[in-house]
Amino acid sequence: MSLKLAKRTSQISPSMTIAVDSKAKQMKKEGKDIIIFGAGEPDFPTPQNIKEAAIKGINNNFTRYTPTGGIPELKKAVADKFKRENRIDYDLSEVTISCGGKHTLFNAIMSVVGKGDEVILPSPYWVSYYDMIKIAEGTPVICNTGKNFKLSSADVRKKITGKTKLIILNSPSNPTGAVIDEKELKKIAEIAVGKNILMISDEVYEHFIYGGGKNKSAASLNDETKNLTITVNSLSKTYSMTGWRIGFCGANKEIIKSMESIQSQSTGNPTSIAQIAAVEALSGQQESVKEMVTAFEKRRNIMVKRLNEMGGVECIKPEGAFYCFPDISKTKMSSAVFSSKLLEESLVALVPGIAFGSDKHVRLSYAASVEDINKGMDRMEKWLKSAKH
Ligand code: PLP
Repeated sequence: MSLKLAKRTSQISPSMTIAVDSKAKQMKKEGKDIIIFGAGEPDFPTPQNIKEAAIKGINNNFTRYTPTGGIPELKKAVADKFKRENRIDYDLSEVTISCGGKHTLFNAIMSVVGKGDEVILPSPYWVSYYDMIKIAEGTPVICNTGKNFKLSSADVRKKITGKTKLIILNSPSNPTGAVIDEKELKKIAEIAVGKNILMISDEVYEHFIYGGGKNKSAASLNDETKNLTITVNSLSKTYSMTGWRIGFCGANKEIIKSMESIQSQSTGNPTSIAQIAAVEALSGQQESVKEMVTAFEKRRNIMVKRLNEMGGVECIKPEGAFYCFPDISKTKMSSAVFSSKLLEESLVALVPGIAFGSDKHVRLSYAASVEDINKGMDRMEKWLKSAKH
């Protein structure tokens, strides 16, 4: 007899990026020499000053429940960060902390999206937005990006209907690395303000922009845009803290209140010790961020060059994040076939683009050593040139 699960579970797929990463790690454990380009996390250790703050927190017995939306010191550090780095003035009542950026996004989407609400989702998109919208019983409305994966305000406008509730912006983007042009961002914000549509601005990769570029936060444009924007961020990528699970956002206080209510009835507060470490991450030395970004830029340049030289795939140079998203259409393989064959035949793990809404692409993370990048590129080149497919 089959178990009767809730209907909503049939609409949700497990995260394909996590599935690929787990499979590759399992193969590695079994002794296979796998090169993993599937990871969505920096390969650097968490900086020492952050680790020490957490150890001090444990030794001081900072190990109990905290306020649901985070300790006041961390809310203050977040508000200071938004002011310093993003030029957004958030009051402490307009800030909340959750268990990772993913959790922040989940609480935000659950707070503002309801049955039948349409959410404009630029594609290619990060895997989890789609399923979160579905869990909230909303309708994802895919808005394809143009040349070099750039989002245009004209394309966003075309997708707006009377049911549009929310527009999702992710810049720099996972998986494409594209940064939204400021001119287009301003036009999208004007549209949103004119129609009273909310926006989520997911800025978790804001520090990973190469060649001197900078990301503009939608909420910094003007007060009306700020009022409609939920600015989401996380410590995971910037401080190499994926396992610590601290995400945060700034938004209108009504939204924050609702997010904290949801959180109070589900996870409760984010881990107390991780919050102490987060205060240090946001307020302490920022040199390690710069060092990591410099290393990523070098790796990006190597991977893009190698991909474009090997023949069979074409890759635009991503402006940010830490992923390459090459076009594989010349190989005539679907992204799933391409990925599983490459893994089985040449022991290189990457993520099929279909997980991000494009079957013509695959995603490779360059959060790997230069040595591994070159080794993986050698294998991929040889595999593409082989006669097996
Ligand atoms: N947003 C984007 C675009 C991401 O790629 C990720 C992680 O991969 C997140 C949010 C959430 O990160 P975390 O939950 O680790 O803070």
